[in-house]
Amino acid sequence: LWNKCLEIIRGDISEQQFTTWFSPIVPLRFANNTLTIQVPSQFFYEWLEENFVGTLRKAIDQTVGKRGMLEYSIVVDRGDRKNPPLTFNLPPINQQGQHTNPYRNEVAPQVQVQSNPFQFKDLDSLELDSYLIPKYTFEKFIEGDCNRLGRAAGMAVANKPGLTSFNPLMIYGGVGLGKTHLIQAIGNEIKNQFPDKFVLYVSTEKFTNQFVNAIRNNSIETFTNFYLQVDVLIIDDVQFLSGKEKTQETFFNIFNHLHQSGKQIILSSDRAPRDLAGMEDRLLSRFKWGLTADLQQPDFETRIAIIQKKLQDDGIQINFDVLEYLAHSIQTNVRELEGVIISLMAQASLTRKEIDLELAKSTLKSIVNDQEKELSVDNILEAITTHFDVDMELLTGKCRKKETVFPRQVAMYMLKELTNLPLKSIGYHFGGRDHSTVIHAVQSISEAMETDKSVEKTVRKLFNRFNIALN
Ligand code: ADP
Ligand code: MG
Repeated sequence: LWNKCLEIIRGDISEQQFTTWFSPIVPLRFANNTLTIQVPSQFFYEWLEENFVGTLRKAIDQTVGKRGMLEYSIVVDRGDRKNPPLTFNLPPINQQGQHTNPYRNEVAPQVQVQSNPFQFKDLDSLELDSYLIPKYTFEKFIEGDCNRLGRAAGMAVANKPGLTSFNPLMIYGGVGLGKTHLIQAIGNEIKNQFPDKFVLYVSTEKFTNQFVNAIRNNSIETFTNFYLQVDVLIIDDVQFLSGKEKTQETFFNIFNHLHQSGKQIILSSDRAPRDLAGMEDRLLSRFKWGLTADLQQPDFETRIAIIQKKLQDDGIQINFDVLEYLAHSIQTNVRELEGVIISLMAQASLTRKEIDLELAKSTLKSIVNDQEKELSVDNILEAITTHFDVDMELLTGKCRKKETVFPRQVAMYMLKELTNLPLKSIGYHFGGRDHSTVIHAVQSISEAMETDKSVEKTVRKLFNRFNIALN
């Protein structure tokens, strides 16, 4: 059965991903429609759930059927070879293909939202869930120049929620630089110090979904009232409010109410308020009321500290040369850094080898090779859609919204700079636009790169994906 699953999975993911994440899995048993697989570590399990839950679900569907369940068994191995590894089971993926992983906050709550959008009607009689993830603490959030301001402001807010001038506190920064971690840490710390306060973490996506459901169910009032009870409101990724006028309006009202009653508001965004397109001015100006702090890419020393901390938390020791090598080699963002460490730990526990320079190099090589994509139109477009989180159809279509136009212009710019395609062929990939549109796009991006550092940074990053330095 597991071999059949593997066949299906192999078709869905890259060879390297397959080797790293699926070869180490040991099938244990199949009973009561439940397949139990053994994975080498907690990290490994989390990684699978984060990244491959859809793939796994598909494999289970096609082999066991829709009612099939998956259960993980984790080998807890702290490097002490004398003690036999412990095994324990984690909650299985449920039937909607959702999983009940406590570390994922997005999916599970959304299921509740659909069946009962406002489970909090009677506030006094119900436990209020904060949707905070315990592992995101300040203690685990390594300080560096890249995040000093945000971290300090976050601590200040956590010590005196609603009472500092940092209200709202807006944390912004690129993907994988620790926004979610930091704002969650603030929430956790507040809960720690003030257990009676109602802290609520919500992603903008979830907030929007709840709002849409409320419209559908004619229960806007309940929705708004619920949010007005919150003492500390943490909203992640507010850039997703862009273009959603009605949601913005309601959010604006909630924001004002909470702010006026001295409640703390914490926001995160992937870009600075001034770069948030499709957002109402009055809302933007609110975002700037308090403190805005950005998270930047960690420098070398911080990267070392982060790696050290992650390994230490998992009870693993490595030599400084390995540390140094890793910190030198991965500079993009913390999530990627973590990904490599996790792969490394997986490899080490799989092969029962120490993590040494050789293993680090070979692991990294396979990962880097996988990422260093071939320069093709498809890969460039794909890089753009991932980076900007925009649909391929929108990107190559006619949509004139700013959130789509900018990525599209960057895409044209990259195609012009990185391929030998004639302008006309470039236009062809975007619904047959003519060459003057492409020229215009290339010009505006070139200009923007000179005047706006963040644009330059974006393009540089995208070029980096193909291992090409922007000069
Ligand atoms: P974002 O929300 O900005 O995309 P996340 O908060 O999800 O990024 O961070 C990505 C990963 O990197 C998380 O696992 C987080 O714990 C880790 N991370 C980010 N910054 C730090 C840091 N300064 N110290 C330790 N871990 C960090
Ligand atoms: Mg995040």
